[in-house]
Amino acid sequence: MIDNLLKATIRDIVDFPKPGIVFKDITPILKNAHLCNLVIEEFATRLKEVHFDVVAGIESRGFLFGLMLANHLGIPFVPIRKEGKLPAQTTKQSYDLEYGSATIEMHTDAFEPGARVLIHDDLLATGGTVVAASKLIQQLGGIIAGYSFVISLDFLNGRQRLLPYSNQLISLVS
Ligand code: IMP
Repeated sequence: MIDNLLKATIRDIVDFPKPGIVFKDITPILKNAHLCNLVIEEFATRLKEVHFDVVAGIESRGFLFGLMLANHLGIPFVPIRKEGKLPAQTTKQSYDLEYGSATIEMHTDAFEPGARVLIHDDLLATGGTVVAASKLIQQLGGIIAGYSFVISLDFLNGRQRLLPYSNQLISLVS
């Protein structure tokens, strides 16, 4: 089972980025080309019934498998980035963090209005980041087709926060 393989590969880094946090590090997966292919095949299989035209990946770890998946499916990949990084005209969305706030952006021509968008990130925690990404995509006229994550920390209830946007959520490890 791929989830056991992934669980054995993902590293827990204690006290990163600050004391008390156990960070799930997916970089060991990236060192294993075969496992990366298995991840993409698993996403593609489990997303078969979810119809989407474009994959939107969240900076920065959402770019890794997000781009690979889009490429595998032969569809466009578009980046959701932190404020000030995208060069062309953008639309913004701000959201609250534990301390302070953050802003994410997309190019206004990332996709055509009415496009069905799959949002991808490495990890779902509280859901704050993907809720902001969902609002951003809706602001641009996109339809949220679903979500894919390598990991979801289900005890943080991020899943529930995403239900108003889409009930299609795939995570390989929870
Ligand atoms: P949320 O907004 O609380 O759901 O946090 C998810 C965002 O924080 C994602 O963009 C993740 O990449 C990042 N994140 C939070 N915790 C971890 C972790 O343990 N490993 C990797 N990324 C994390």
